[in-house]
Amino acid sequence: MSVTKQKRERLGAKDEGMADLGLYLHIPFCVKRCHFCAFYLVLHDRQRVEQFLQAIEREIALYANQPGMRERTISTVYVGGGTPTVLPPEQLVAILSSIRSGFSLSQQCEITVEATPESLTDKYADFLRQAGVTRLSIGIQSFDPQERTMLGLSGTRAEAMSSVQIAKQAGFSNINLDFIYGIPNQTVQSWEMTLTHALELDPSHLSLYALSLEKGTRFYSEFRRGLFEVMDPDHEVCFQQQAETQLKLRRLSRYELSNWAKSGFACQHNLRYWRGLEYLGLGPSAQSYVSESRYGNVSSVEHYSKCLEAGQLPVVKRELLSRAQQDKERIVFGLRLLEGVPIDWVHKASQDEIWATSFTTLVKEDYLFQTDTGVQLTQKGQQFADTVGMRLL
Ligand code: SF4
Repeated sequence: MSVTKQKRERLGAKDEGMADLGLYLHIPFCVKRCHFCAFYLVLHDRQRVEQFLQAIEREIALYANQPGMRERTISTVYVGGGTPTVLPPEQLVAILSSIRSGFSLSQQCEITVEATPESLTDKYADFLRQAGVTRLSIGIQSFDPQERTMLGLSGTRAEAMSSVQIAKQAGFSNINLDFIYGIPNQTVQSWEMTLTHALELDPSHLSLYALSLEKGTRFYSEFRRGLFEVMDPDHEVCFQQQAETQLKLRRLSRYELSNWAKSGFACQHNLRYWRGLEYLGLGPSAQSYVSESRYGNVSSVEHYSKCLEAGQLPVVKRELLSRAQQDKERIVFGLRLLEGVPIDWVHKASQDEIWATSFTTLVKEDYLFQTDTGVQLTQKGQQFADTVGMRLL
């Protein structure tokens, strides 16, 4: 067995080519907007939630009744947002029941729900467990009180700590915690403290994201007004190295640029994105990649609901990808995985001479490492992964 195949199997990958599908559900509500967040969401309001719940039921029914949909196995369901757990548990569980009735979920289906620490009560966690949710992803972001204020997070550090215990007591063993580094004024010491607390909670998965300044966020406008400086990319590397050192000791391995997991706990849903496999997105702003097309739902609860009331799918942008585009995209996404991509993907994309030249240049410039069987980002390539991606698209 090749090394790449062994690595893929350790991550829980199945043979490619199966017509299975991942489902993403976007629940677009939060109690307030964090200062760094650019996701499509609206503040929680009962009337809008009612409108949304009716609409998502209609969207589920429209897709479920499409020819061939029930024959496709759903391998992963990811409920994200927004904050899914801002909905009362009965409402969230009702959506999951409709998913189960409308689609054919595999027996081993990974079902992830995102939660904020303060919304995850004992009752909520029990409800989710009984509804067959297999994985929780909790957005903690930082354990440092000043950084939490800076990020505009709701909830306290104590709630962040106890949410993981609540999840475990409800029977969850597959738990991801999200954290952010590169926060203005953050030090490597405070990051070390956040990671130490995180590791004391013994999660099976950690997602560590560098803070990025997204247009439309409070951080972005404060940065434009000169209220703080962004972290130097060279300094960001110190935060990554700190994480690498601490996480390795707790048997968490980095399998994607921002993701670490214990063996067997890589996120199967997100692996679909990185491996170029198909997924269907439901809810306002959700994106899909199905039948060689990328498309997205309208980013407005009102428009989303109106379309569905009229019996139409709320799709606003649809692009049919050529075979060559798909070949390039799966390489760019696949390179985010530390295992890299198989060499035959590169051979296929290299039929385009311009692309092949860009690829060879990136290898020469030490952004990519090529072997007889595959290609991976080098250390330098990992640091400039977005630039590498742009040069290969
Ligand atoms: S809780 Fe999550 S989705 Fe909601 S505003 Fe904060 S970061 Fe964004």
